[in-house]
Amino acid sequence: MSQLSTDLSACSGFSRRSFLRSASAALAAAPILTEAHFARAASMSTSEVPEFSMKGIYLDANENPLGPSDNARKAIADIIPNGGRYAPPLYFGAMKLFAERMGVPVEHVMIYDGSSPPLHYSSLAFTSPTRSFVCANPTYEAGQRAAEIAGAKVHAIALAKDYSHDTAAMVKADPNAGLIYICNPNNPTGTITSKEQIDYAVANKPAAAVVLVDEAYIHLSDATSAIDHVKAGKDVIILRTFSKIYGMAGIRCGFAIGRPDLLKKLERFGQAPMPITGMIAAQASLMDPDLVPTRKKIIADTRNKTFAWLKANNYDFVPSQSNCFMIDVKRPGPQIRALMAKDGVYIGRSWSAWPNYVRVTVGLPSEMEAFQRSFKKAMDTPASAFNELPFSRTHRDGLFA
Ligand code: PLP
Repeated sequence: MSQLSTDLSACSGFSRRSFLRSASAALAAAPILTEAHFARAASMSTSEVPEFSMKGIYLDANENPLGPSDNARKAIADIIPNGGRYAPPLYFGAMKLFAERMGVPVEHVMIYDGSSPPLHYSSLAFTSPTRSFVCANPTYEAGQRAAEIAGAKVHAIALAKDYSHDTAAMVKADPNAGLIYICNPNNPTGTITSKEQIDYAVANKPAAAVVLVDEAYIHLSDATSAIDHVKAGKDVIILRTFSKIYGMAGIRCGFAIGRPDLLKKLERFGQAPMPITGMIAAQASLMDPDLVPTRKKIIADTRNKTFAWLKANNYDFVPSQSNCFMIDVKRPGPQIRALMAKDGVYIGRSWSAWPNYVRVTVGLPSEMEAFQRSFKKAMDTPASAFNELPFSRTHRDGLFA
């Protein structure tokens, strides 16, 4: 048998076109949408589709280029001979360890293959044509998309001047709100909402609403977790994923943390079988005390170096504490994306609330050097040259409508 290729475009049955086809089919069939769908769908155009392989520089999906930690890699390798098993004890082992680390009883956690499923299910469970979805604008789109599928009205409230969630306005948006989604740090801005603002939302929300705090990026920042509200028995669900600081987006593991009666409401929408590699790698990651502080520093150093370069070159950006940040490119963001894609540097999408901004994921130092070269070249390109680019179609929150 020939050696396994790591070039995903070379895998039979998984060409870039079939990936993109499944991305568009998925949109029609109301599936769980992940960052990968949003990121790569934003690259779609009828005339030009970028290669789906790991050969380019991908700064478009908030992935962690460091991948799983050494301990997680070893745990994955060691468990491969058992890959023919479902291994239910691993579910309980991973949930028990995660619950211990969060300081909650194990009944307050549920394991998923990433945090996309519980995000999607929370929208389906707590919103409806009579119960709306409240979120920031801009923010991560997946919860909103699921709420739209549930027939819910969406109240997207502009971020405050300091780019935090305007929780005072969010709780007032609709007395019949079903779910209030707070992404902390926020995707795409990487900005923080203070614990006091979250406390305000929990204390002042409409009685029947649930507050969903998405802490996908929390380890990269100095934000305070809202876990104390779960411990206090409030109407709060927290989401955590191993896709970001732990570098396991392609391995898959995540958790919902909340009162058992709230978690039960998510159950009827499904519980995907867990990959044993994801469960064992999550446990190995949690048992490594150096992983979070070491990676937080590596990513912050690269991010801050990039910020220093942007500042020195007079580019406007939103200071972020996460592995992504927004740059004001002062023209439609997709134009800069398209130009940079020609260099094999794939940056992130734009949001309709901020059409002249692009989101950039923090990559490796060498990748950020390539980013700087390509970004400067694109920004120095005369405006007239952009008219010929394929990305002139209207897009809605990064997805071509
Ligand atoms: N929440 C936020 C804010 C995200 O940005 C993402 C992915 O990028 C997710 C949840 C879902 O991540 P995953 O399903 O890989 O755990």
